[in-house]
Amino acid sequence: MNLILLGKPGAGKGFIADILKNEYGFYHISTGALLRKNIAEGTQLGQVANGYMAQGELVPNDLVFDMLKDEIGKMKSKNCVFDGYPRSVLQAKSLAGIVNIDSVLFVDVPDDILIERVLSRKTCLACGNLSEIGQKDTVCKKCGGELVTRADDNLEVVTNRLNVYNESTAPLKEFYADKIVVLDNSGSVEQTKQKLNQIISDLLKKYGENI
Ligand SMILES: [Zn+2]
Repeated sequence: MNLILLGKPGAGKGFIADILKNEYGFYHISTGALLRKNIAEGTQLGQVANGYMAQGELVPNDLVFDMLKDEIGKMKSKNCVFDGYPRSVLQAKSLAGIVNIDSVLFVDVPDDILIERVLSRKTCLACGNLSEIGQKDTVCKKCGGELVTRADDNLEVVTNRLNVYNESTAPLKEFYADKIVVLDNSGSVEQTKQKLNQIISDLLKKYGENI
């Protein structure tokens, strides 16, 4: 089964991807990680990408897609979750040309709860460690340093980020309308895990495991 992970910034996609990877053995394809890996390993694609980044330019879509194609060739025999791709209908159409997507998991948190979570997030002054969303810690778990609210996480920035996301994702959600499954992540970690377990076992029954 091949899944796409969608979600607003701060909705907890990383947390869900970790569970899919560690507890269900999904092959996690994150375009951000893929880009960093190609650059670190000095692959041909990585070198070209690095050239763009050194100039302060965005890595072209085609190049990211080529890396994705390479990676998909390696994961043929596994259940797979795509994270960070596609971001547009155009990318979704390209992806459909090389892999069959069974379902799209949308990690959903209502905007007001999301804003509250992001704004309550704190950074350690000493080591830069970010407190977990929803935790009310006053000192850093890693080093005991002082935690402060992040200056760039003000209401306007967060609201703006959400609006941009909601607008750019709307067409994508429409494109995948018959594949979308909503995972409500507004409750506790345990509640989300339970819902996720139910969704994944239903999906695996329906689409089967890749073998
Ligand atoms: Zn710290």
